[in-house]
Amino acid sequence: MPTMPSTPSTPSLHISTTLTDTPTSDERLAEIHADPGFGTHFTDHMLTVEWTPDAGWHDARVTPYAPLTLDPATAVLHYAQETFEGMKAYRHADGSVWTFRPEENGARMERSSHRLALPVLPAADFVQAVDALVTADERWVPGASEAGEKSLYVRPFMFASEAFLGVRPAQHVTFMVIASPAGSYFKGGVRPVTLWLTEEYTRAGRGGMGAAKTGGNYASSLVAQQEATAHGCDQVVFLDAQEGRYVEELGGMNLYFVHDDGRIVTPGLGTILEGITRASIIELAGKLGHQVEERPFSIDEWRDGVRSGRITEVFACGTAAVVTPVGELRWDGGSAPAPASTDLTMRIRQALVDVQHGRADDTFGWMHRVV
Ligand SMILES: *Cc1c(COP(=O)(O)O)cnc(C)c1O
Repeated sequence: MPTMPSTPSTPSLHISTTLTDTPTSDERLAEIHADPGFGTHFTDHMLTVEWTPDAGWHDARVTPYAPLTLDPATAVLHYAQETFEGMKAYRHADGSVWTFRPEENGARMERSSHRLALPVLPAADFVQAVDALVTADERWVPGASEAGEKSLYVRPFMFASEAFLGVRPAQHVTFMVIASPAGSYFKGGVRPVTLWLTEEYTRAGRGGMGAAKTGGNYASSLVAQQEATAHGCDQVVFLDAQEGRYVEELGGMNLYFVHDDGRIVTPGLGTILEGITRASIIELAGKLGHQVEERPFSIDEWRDGVRSGRITEVFACGTAAVVTPVGELRWDGGSAPAPASTDLTMRIRQALVDVQHGRADDTFGWMHRVV
């Protein structure tokens, strides 16, 4: 469970560091920070750790950012044995640099890797690896600004790097961390996203890998996302594979439904991705006096609820956008209107963003200091 601390262990990687001879200039870095976009500019370094059955995790190193040379038979290119994580590093007003619940990302990667038959990198080593890269590329963490939401997006990932076309778990696996500056997700203010309900595609079934953070789940969501875009919507909503009746999540965000009596409902775990933002909001909403129910939530409850006014707000959450109000829901032949309000959504959003950026007390002990 994302809310439970992973088994405590001490970091055990021996990380060597080779810094680049050609760091990005201050001028160029300022240009990138002024308009970072998302996932297009990468920092000066990357972190790599290798795994083999005999040696375990070894050869951990921070080196200059560079392309990989892969044999065309590299297993991940054929069988998608891969897991990844997404997290951010934030600069606080005093210049210090922090990550948000990184041990939860590490624990989730342990679970994802187990599902993908990849070797488990202990969460403590995961945190140590992320810290090493963020420390090496500290100048890439954007400066703190008053209401700012800029951060350094960090992408740990693990893949089957053995060159072998036989189908079995790879005997050579590579774990890496790269990072990319990120601006505010919403330029010109937060605005509700319009959602497309796909009735043709599903993202996960019982016993599948819906709860694992793995590229395959994204590959299978893209055609549904294309369908959403073709219908003028921002994002796609998936229903459960068995009955086509219960709301699961978006392609990369979890969902919440706020009711007029203050109750908040979010789909229960199982086939959805266990979002760390999702888990944090459950704790935060509780503190704000809202009862949170984790349970199956049907698409009829959504449609009827917004029409009758019993559902006052719908929002989506994930590391990239933090919290996003949801507006209109459309499907083939119909639509349900945007809920009446975004008040609680924006309060929860602000509370979370303020803790992450060090503008509010970290009463839950969620922040981890890197620099
Ligand atoms: C990463 C992800 C989320 C959000 O998880 P966070 O830990 O909150 O960033 C939600 N759904 C899917 C499918 C994801 O991959």
